[in-house]
Amino acid sequence: MKEKVITRFAPSPTGYLHLGAYRTAIFSYLYAKKHNGAFVLRIENTDRVRSTKEYEENIIESLKWLGLSYDRFYRQSEHVETHKKYLEKMIKEGNAYLSQEEAKDGSKKMKEIIRFKNPNIDISFEDEIKGKVVMNTKDLGNFVIAKNLNEPLFHLAVVVDDFEAGITHVIRGEDHTSNTPRQILIQRAIGAPTPVYAHLPLVLGPDKLKLSKRRGAQPINYYKEMGFLPDAILNGVAFIGWNPGTDQEIFTHDELVKAFDFSKVQKSPAIFNEEKLEWFNKEHIKKLSVEELKNKIFEYLPNNLKIERIIPIIAERISKWNDVKDMVTRGELDFFYKEPKYEKEKLIYKNSSLEKTASNLKESVMALEKLSEKDFTKENVKNILMKITDRLESRGELLHPVRYALSGLDKSPDPFVIAEVLGKNETLSRLQKAI
Ligand code: GLU
Repeated sequence: MKEKVITRFAPSPTGYLHLGAYRTAIFSYLYAKKHNGAFVLRIENTDRVRSTKEYEENIIESLKWLGLSYDRFYRQSEHVETHKKYLEKMIKEGNAYLSQEEAKDGSKKMKEIIRFKNPNIDISFEDEIKGKVVMNTKDLGNFVIAKNLNEPLFHLAVVVDDFEAGITHVIRGEDHTSNTPRQILIQRAIGAPTPVYAHLPLVLGPDKLKLSKRRGAQPINYYKEMGFLPDAILNGVAFIGWNPGTDQEIFTHDELVKAFDFSKVQKSPAIFNEEKLEWFNKEHIKKLSVEELKNKIFEYLPNNLKIERIIPIIAERISKWNDVKDMVTRGELDFFYKEPKYEKEKLIYKNSSLEKTASNLKESVMALEKLSEKDFTKENVKNILMKITDRLESRGELLHPVRYALSGLDKSPDPFVIAEVLGKNETLSRLQKAI
C-alpha cells in the first residue's frame, strides 16, 4: 500500500549544512513518521560544479547520527532521463519551447535553452504555516526550465522528482516560498497534483541576523565532535521555532514523532541559541543510566582519573562530553589523585585570620577523626562540619578553608563531596597539612 504521507528532504550537496537545514530535515521526518508515512532523501546535485561527494556523504552521515532514517534515497542526477521525458512532453504539448538566445557570457554565441510558456495567471496555495499565499506569475515571464534536454534546471527537476516520488508534503525553508508559484505552474503543465506546502520560517542567530557558520550555526560534525548527544541535538533543533504547546521540553526521538504538528510551528523567524542547545544536552545527559554515564565519561578521562566515585561530580559540572576533557586539561580534577599546592593565605576566608583558620581546621580534624572510614560519607561529614559552623560567625570561616585545603582550587565541588571521594585518611592528611 502506498503511504498517505510522503515527505522529503532535498539538500544540495554544495557545502556543509548547518543546523537550520537539519531543522528542515527533522520537521519533514517527524511529520512523515507521525503519519506512518515515508521520508525521502533526495540529493539535489544538478549543480555539477559545486556538488561534491564529500558533502553528500556528510549529509548522509549527519542524518544517520541524528537518527533520521529515510525510506528511499534518490540522487537528482540519476533522473536526467525522466526530466528529459517531461521536457519533451511539455514541448510537444506547447507548455515549453526551445529558444535560440545569445549566450550571457558576452561571446555573442547563440545557445539553445528551454523556456516555460507562462500562462500569466494568479497562483494561490494554502501553506500549512503561512496560510493562504497568492502570487501573480506575470512578472516571471517565460522562465527558463532547462539549459537543454539533458540539463534541467532547479524548478523542473524539483517538480518532476516530487511528482515521480509521490511526495504529498513539501516541507522546506521560507526562502523557497517565492519558487512555489513557478513550480505549481510546471505541475499543472505536466499533470502533477500540487502537494501540501509548509514553508518554515528562517532560523536566525541570537543577533537576529541570518544564521551562518560564523554566527553560531555549525555543521552536525561540530556538535558530534564537541560531544553532544544526538538525541539532544534532535530535541534542541526541533525546538527551534516549534514547541508542543505544553511545558515539556525534553523529548526522546519517539516522543517528538508523536508530538510534532505544524500548528505549533511559529510564524516568525526562529532564534537559534547555542546555550539553549547545551541546556538540552545537559538534560539528556541526566537521563542516561549510571552505566552509560560512566562509560561515556571514562572515555574522556585519563586512566588515573577513572574513579567511579567522581562520576557524579563530573556529571554535575558538564553539559557535553568535551567539557570532561576541558576539566582534565585545566587540572580541575587533579586534586582527586594529587595533593594540591597553594599559598596558605588563600585558606583564609574573607577577613578571618590565619590563627582562626588554623583553629577551625583543628576542630574539624578532631571531629572527623571520630568517623570510621566506612562512615566517611558526604552526609556524615556535612553533619559534623555544620555542627562546628553553628558556633562561628559565618559558615565560610570553616567551609572555605576545608574545601580549599582539600582541592586547592578557587572553584570546586563542596568539601563534603570531596571528602567522601578522597576518603578518611587522605582528607585528614590534607587538613593536617593545611593546619
Ligand atoms: N535543494 C534545495 C535546497 O537545498 C531544496 C529544494 C526544495 O526543498 O524544494 O535549498
